[in-house]
Amino acid sequence: MDLGIKGKTAIVCAASKGLGRGCAEALAEAGVDLVINARSEGPLQQAAEEIAAKYGVKVTPVACDITTPEGQAKVLAANPAPDILVNNAGGPPPGMWSDWEREDFIKALDANMLTPIALMKAVLPGMMARKWGRVVNITSQSVKSPIPVLGLSNSARAGLTGYVGGTSRQVAPEGVTINNILPGIHATERAESLDRAVSEAEGISMEEAAKRRQATIPARRYGTPEEFGAMCAFLCSQHAGYIVGQNILLDGGAVNSTM
Ligand code: NAP
Repeated sequence: MDLGIKGKTAIVCAASKGLGRGCAEALAEAGVDLVINARSEGPLQQAAEEIAAKYGVKVTPVACDITTPEGQAKVLAANPAPDILVNNAGGPPPGMWSDWEREDFIKALDANMLTPIALMKAVLPGMMARKWGRVVNITSQSVKSPIPVLGLSNSARAGLTGYVGGTSRQVAPEGVTINNILPGIHATERAESLDRAVSEAEGISMEEAAKRRQATIPARRYGTPEEFGAMCAFLCSQHAGYIVGQNILLDGGAVNSTM
């Protein structure tokens, strides 16, 4: 399917690896020129070179922490007027409700709620003026089905979801869509770290920890960054202009719910 976005430009945050990388690759395959971001310069540079070589698009790497105002300014300076914005950043650490103090919440809110909001606020006016724009936020299945040990993530992502619910309806008249993709477990370093935590806590192998987790997923496997990227690119395509303010679960059926 031709996604109809060849020649458009995108900012993809937190994109040297994992789900962000999956989104960057799928957009590049559709002919979109990219600004990609991550904190570690080496892997980011390598990702940019690999994507540019594979798909023949322009890829500009911007190494910085996207959760800081300085990082956001650096990324926006590389493309102040993108057609597409994919918001992403690392998730907060797991723990118990009793572990978290105000500062922990502020950090999680900054990373997973206020950073995407700041970036949207910066690029939405231009998208609206040009009568076309696509924003995709990577959130989590925990928005629909809270994961007890991820209380910081549950809280911050629920806040972003509420903001998107309202804002997406305010910008839709100008041809701009905002949607969230909610990953269940995908085979990335994030999933590895979750499995490692279980493996260490329970004294079992990584393989056993992954096997146990996969047994709880109807699809009996983890998702892939490629599958995730394909959904992201579709939401950024010409065909998705009528999809507004949605929360799309990619979880292999893990969340048992009809809505
Ligand atoms: P990942 O494989 O660990 O990749 C994270 C990517 O983000 C890397 O490129 C990393 O590069 C970059 N990054 C992290 N923090 C950053 C920051 N502050 N500024 C800029 N770049 C940053 O993670 P993932 O699995 O793709 O997860 C992406 C998001 O989806 C996370 O928020 C995660 O919580 C959420 N999620 C993932 C899953 C899953 O199963 N994978 C499930 C539910 C939710 P650097 O380290 O070099 O910065």
